[in-house]
Amino acid sequence: MKVPNILLIYTGGTIGMVKDSSTSALRPFNFDNLIKRIPEINLLDCTIDTISFDTPIDSSNINPDNWVSIAEIIESNYNIYNGFVVLHGSDTMSYSASALSFMFENLNKPVIFTGSQLPIGDLRTDAKENLITSIQVAALTKNNEPIIKEVCLYFEYKLFRGNRTTKVNAEHFKAFDSLNFPKLIESGVNLELFENNILSGSTLPLKVHKGFCKDVLILKLFPGIQEHILRQLLSVNDLKGIVIETYGAGNTLTEPWFTDILEKVIAKGVKVVNVTQCLKGSVKMNLYETGIHLKKAGVISAKDMTIEAAITKMMFLLSDESKYTDFKKSYETPLRGEIS
Ligand code: ASP
Repeated sequence: MKVPNILLIYTGGTIGMVKDSSTSALRPFNFDNLIKRIPEINLLDCTIDTISFDTPIDSSNINPDNWVSIAEIIESNYNIYNGFVVLHGSDTMSYSASALSFMFENLNKPVIFTGSQLPIGDLRTDAKENLITSIQVAALTKNNEPIIKEVCLYFEYKLFRGNRTTKVNAEHFKAFDSLNFPKLIESGVNLELFENNILSGSTLPLKVHKGFCKDVLILKLFPGIQEHILRQLLSVNDLKGIVIETYGAGNTLTEPWFTDILEKVIAKGVKVVNVTQCLKGSVKMNLYETGIHLKKAGVISAKDMTIEAAITKMMFLLSDESKYTDFKKSYETPLRGEIS
């Protein structure tokens, strides 16, 4: 059998950064140097080609145009390669992995996001393990078919569904977690596969959706939030959607002014979604009185989605009305395994 061929896409991030001699701050550097620093990848049982953003970026600067660039690289190489590894900064990696998962309808090949907490040149770097195992995971096959057929995130020995992940630690190598969905693979002496957790892919042709609506907002609740500030904020023209980060199982204050603001904004056609501030668990708007008023007002449930999946799914769906007949129904239904 022919060995799998993998396309490595470098977007930027710590994995490829160097210290600027004048400021001592980390900045992205040339991708060719990155590959030179890991000669071990030549020992892998697959062929690897590389492609880089012309100007690699710190992922704090990522935007939906960059998501489209990544998707277009994959789309134009989809029939040539068996799998794709995207090197990306960890800060917004879960947003990008979630966005890409929604962009690819009928994905039938692996797209593995990875990065690192320490640059590849650092003596104690986590970059080598993350990169080498991500390539191995992307190259896994069974009966001549890729095993992974979805957008994933690999970091510190675990492969997760990308749209289930959140960055949970700015210091530890274990920077990501997937608290509402189990891991797909764990890397130890061997790669342990949890096949029941892996999406089965599709035989239909790949469809790549490239639109994102940016006229949206995430609003995190806190005790003491002010009516006049909210009224002002939510009366802005062109607002199309709000994701409210609520307490616990999807609860908010029950002050009449708060419900009034939501009812008015919903009446104007703005979509309002309820996602929990908790890392684990789900929104259940009929559990407490503090949630029922939201449901009555027409607020949509993000169920157990991460905040990254909740906002990117909203941006994805709102970009084009033809993507849904009933926004609430489409939003509350899993599209790419992002809801349990
Ligand atoms: N600031 C970096 C980035 O997200 C952090 C990292 O790569 O881990 O691009």
